[in-house]
Amino acid sequence: ATPTAVTVGVGRAAEYGVLIKNGEVLENAGKTKIAIFDKTGTITEGKPEISDIYPVDDNLKFYYPIFIKNQRIMENSNLDSSLNSSLDSSLGSSLDSNLNSNDLNDFLLMITGSLESKSNHPIAKTIVKECQNLKINLFDLDSFENISGKGLKAIYKNKQIIVGNKKILDDENIKISDDLLERYLKLSNEGKTTILIAIENDVLGIIALMDKIKDNAKYTMDSLKSLDIEPMMITGDNNKTAIEVGKKVGIENIISEVLPNEKLDHLINIKTKFSNSIKKDNGNNIIITFVGDGINDAPAISGADVGIALGSGSDIAMDSGDIVLTDDNLENVVVAIEFSKKVIRRIK
Ligand code: ADP
Ligand code: MG
Repeated sequence: ATPTAVTVGVGRAAEYGVLIKNGEVLENAGKTKIAIFDKTGTITEGKPEISDIYPVDDNLKFYYPIFIKNQRIMENSNLDSSLNSSLDSSLGSSLDSNLNSNDLNDFLLMITGSLESKSNHPIAKTIVKECQNLKINLFDLDSFENISGKGLKAIYKNKQIIVGNKKILDDENIKISDDLLERYLKLSNEGKTTILIAIENDVLGIIALMDKIKDNAKYTMDSLKSLDIEPMMITGDNNKTAIEVGKKVGIENIISEVLPNEKLDHLINIKTKFSNSIKKDNGNNIIITFVGDGINDAPAISGADVGIALGSGSDIAMDSGDIVLTDDNLENVVVAIEFSKKVIRRIK
């Protein structure tokens, strides 16, 4: 290789916001056959907004007096009026008439937010912010556990609370009614990340979050295809959500419901599968590029032939990436690959 071409390439790329950490990667990027993208925070903004709240009224009304009655820290809460009446009366049944649907939504958010305040997932940040906006105070949980790729689990007042996807409810053997399941699937079909909330064996409701797809995501995928590169998506989110996002950006090849520690394994499987199926004249394995933000996917970034990390991602992403897109511009995946192709041509 001519060191000059590489040095010049690295320098020029940096001006575009593409930080290339070594010459070897600059040469490999241009040979990419498959580019695998993480969904949340990479194809999407990673700043989901709450789009739907569906409370299961009867179950919320049942737990409301148990959880709220001795709660004395609600000064600013929307739950105020009903709280006062709950203090006035010790009978749950008299509460029912006072609880309006706003109260029930707030109670659902309160329970969810109490668990999410312990998590730093994008879902968690959004829900906790919403609780702050609505001045909903959160519980001090007695215990808390993060179930990677599935959700959260906690104990409060000797009751188990679960917040997460259907997998975590299935793991706990919590039954979901047909009506709720239908809603869960419908919301997921709309491309929303949909979470269920349960106390003990009772499902209290659904919260759906919509994460905006980046404006240039479709353009990026189209550009890759025109370079004869197959874009793929990998995500921990549920299949229906992933397929809907894929449709919007033009990705057909999707691996969903993947646990964080499985992302790298999938990448290796894809590499093996495609390397075997594509007869390469030089017998080399195909080059796989992985693009992620480092949340849940740092091992895949560092394990890929070419690991590209978004600049807005975690510090660990910056460390794991062979290439860092410093200004967080998804299109720069294409710029990196094109620079690499130019350098390869010069070297030849
Ligand atoms: P992604 O690959 O989209 O970043 P994750 O592996 O982080 O996904 O999470 C996969 C799924 O697990 C989420 O879509 C959600 O259903 C559930 N989940 C993970 N963390 C949480 C959380 N803090 N609260 C609720 N659900 C969660
Ligand atoms: Mg991500």
